[in-house]
Amino acid sequence: MTIRIALAGNPNCGKTTLFNRLTGSTQFVGNWPGVTIEKKEGRVKGFDDLIVTDLPGIYSLSPYSLEEVVTRNYIVKERPDAMIDVVDGTNLERNLYLTTQLTELGIPVVIAINMIDVVEKRGDVINIEELGERIGCKVIRISALNGEGVSEVLAAAVEAAKGPGTIPHHIFSGGVEHALAHIEEAAVHNMPEGQQRWYAVKIFERDEKIYDDVRLSDDVKAHIESDIVAAEKELGDDSASIITNERYNYIESITKVCYRRKSAQRRSISAKIDKVLTNRILALPIFAAVMFIVYYVSVTTVGAWVTDFMNDGLFGDGFNLFGAWIPGVPVLAERALDAIGCAGWLKALLVDGIIGGVGAVLGFVPQMFVLFIFLAFLEGCGYVARIAFIMDRIFKRFGLSGKSFISILVGTGCGVPGIMASRTIENERDRRMTIITTTFIPCGAKLPIIALVASALFGGASWVAPSAYFLGVFAIGISGIILKKTKIFAGESAPFVMELPDYHMPTAGNILHSMWERGWSFIRKAGTVILLASVIIWGGSSLGWPDGGPFAFKPGMELPDSIIGHFGNVVRWVFAPLGFNNIQAAIATVMGLVAKEEVVGVFGVLDFNGLSPLAAYSFLIFNLLCAPCFAAIGAIRREMNSAKWTLFAVAYQTVLAYAFALIIYQSGLLFCGEVNVAGLIFALFVLASGIYLLVRRGAGKQADHGMAGR
Ligand code: GDP
Ligand code: MG
Repeated sequence: MTIRIALAGNPNCGKTTLFNRLTGSTQFVGNWPGVTIEKKEGRVKGFDDLIVTDLPGIYSLSPYSLEEVVTRNYIVKERPDAMIDVVDGTNLERNLYLTTQLTELGIPVVIAINMIDVVEKRGDVINIEELGERIGCKVIRISALNGEGVSEVLAAAVEAAKGPGTIPHHIFSGGVEHALAHIEEAAVHNMPEGQQRWYAVKIFERDEKIYDDVRLSDDVKAHIESDIVAAEKELGDDSASIITNERYNYIESITKVCYRRKSAQRRSISAKIDKVLTNRILALPIFAAVMFIVYYVSVTTVGAWVTDFMNDGLFGDGFNLFGAWIPGVPVLAERALDAIGCAGWLKALLVDGIIGGVGAVLGFVPQMFVLFIFLAFLEGCGYVARIAFIMDRIFKRFGLSGKSFISILVGTGCGVPGIMASRTIENERDRRMTIITTTFIPCGAKLPIIALVASALFGGASWVAPSAYFLGVFAIGISGIILKKTKIFAGESAPFVMELPDYHMPTAGNILHSMWERGWSFIRKAGTVILLASVIIWGGSSLGWPDGGPFAFKPGMELPDSIIGHFGNVVRWVFAPLGFNNIQAAIATVMGLVAKEEVVGVFGVLDFNGLSPLAAYSFLIFNLLCAPCFAAIGAIRREMNSAKWTLFAVAYQTVLAYAFALIIYQSGLLFCGEVNVAGLIFALFVLASGIYLLVRRGAGKQADHGMAGR
């Protein structure tokens, strides 16, 4: 007979590592029916009758996030024969919260205290015998990483699977237990005994999905409700909070006895640093200063030196090294191609098209790498978690959650994982809103556009690059306010609980690894997507009707005569009110859909000229905020699981980008004393509409239950 064992635990507690260790290579990866959450199952190496499942990581069995729903449905409906509750031993308190719930399900549970290698290295001590006694199940120390205890925990799980379900040892306070007993009696008495408690607790918490499952009569519901209300009155809190608090109190009482931390020193240092960094008044200016430095250094100073070398030297005419002049790649390529007698058109394709386009993008890679080093450092040292915490405090007022900011910070590297990071957001409305706004933040691929505009048109002015970042944050804030006032997005955001990790110095290896992981995908893209796009742009600018004559192939023809020129001429009027009424800029904007770096790639193939700094800044703003690249749109499509929502997201982003660029360009003109009456009226109209959307009275909370479905 096959025994099914599920691995459950918080995110990052080491489930997948343990899973891989148990299954070796005999695993099957898929998706859960209907949702894009990874499903992993596999046979245990050497035991054909043991199947393990790696469940999505969760903090609790509440029905808030997709992960929680998937995991909970799996456990409650499929009922594995046993569960291994993987607990991160370095984060005992937070992890045991889930444990208290898992043990109530009537399924045999074995606790694996993982990361024991780290716990021991720190000199902390966990008394597993005492812990097991208090919780009511077997506890085993393991290190999924080096294999310690893995076979013991497997044996214990198999043994437990043969026995009855774990009986929870935790007793809630009198008032709660009284209500629970009534609920068990009235609502769930015909369920198997082991499962009654969990259902009763969930009913007590007024978990809507459970109410759907157990289908109570109105009579019973009213009866139960009065029990719950009585308990709430007695304990002075709402029922769900009562349960949460009592679980935490229980855990505290356990860890006090079973867990001894060697040194509280690091903790206290972190607390001291946090007094400043998360201070109510200082937090925001510090965050702004940090991001200013990050962008200033990566775009304007260090990054720019290297990029100048790459653009003017390596991919330009050449550079000086130890007093010797070394020609750049295009020059060398041209010489080599001449030497082998290459046809003129092919030479133009290779040098102007491919080296020009790909080189223009590659030239900015060093800047991306510098940015990624900063991001890796901020993440690794623990500051990013603080930013989410600080932002939560501010965003809460607009009904947004700090969790949205995690997506946004991930999106600073690349929008695709940023959009995927929204999965941790509990409620569907906030999740959608985060997906829609995440790509406002400049991703790595937008960095070249920022750098190009900053250096080519503003002489490397220090404010340009950071302003792009803060504009993105601003767009997100504005969107939050506007969207929250619509019926579809109205409602309180879920509370944000997050344990702030202690500060520590990340290792150089980790930083470099993270930088490389992010950066490599851009280099790869340069060799594939950007290369192809450059060929297309070059081809489109070499085919056309030179000098008004018949259709012909002629590299280097006047741009307006070419196919691309004709196309650009049709499109560019759309951007006229934004100031970049110019073929190159129009084409670049359209090609930005393929990949944002390609905006710069286009200028590598077609020469860039004719924009005033103001128009260039407007161009920058539009390209930063408008519809993201196809890869990110694809991610939006997958995460939204709806074509309609995807369309809405892209349309919203583009309209907002247009509005921002329009208002900034037209008001900028006003300052320069060059008023364009029609444009100004248009901008004022858009500004007024925007202000209306911002300050109007929002849809009330009654809209809370509307439009919940996909
Ligand atoms: P999951 O999110 O629960 O699937 O966690 P993973 O298996 O992906 O592990 C998260 C991180 O913890 C990875 O970097 C692992 O290498 C690391 N990890 C997992 N188990 C151990 C362990 O026993 N000791 C140490 N030091 N690291 C571990
Ligand atoms: Mg995993």
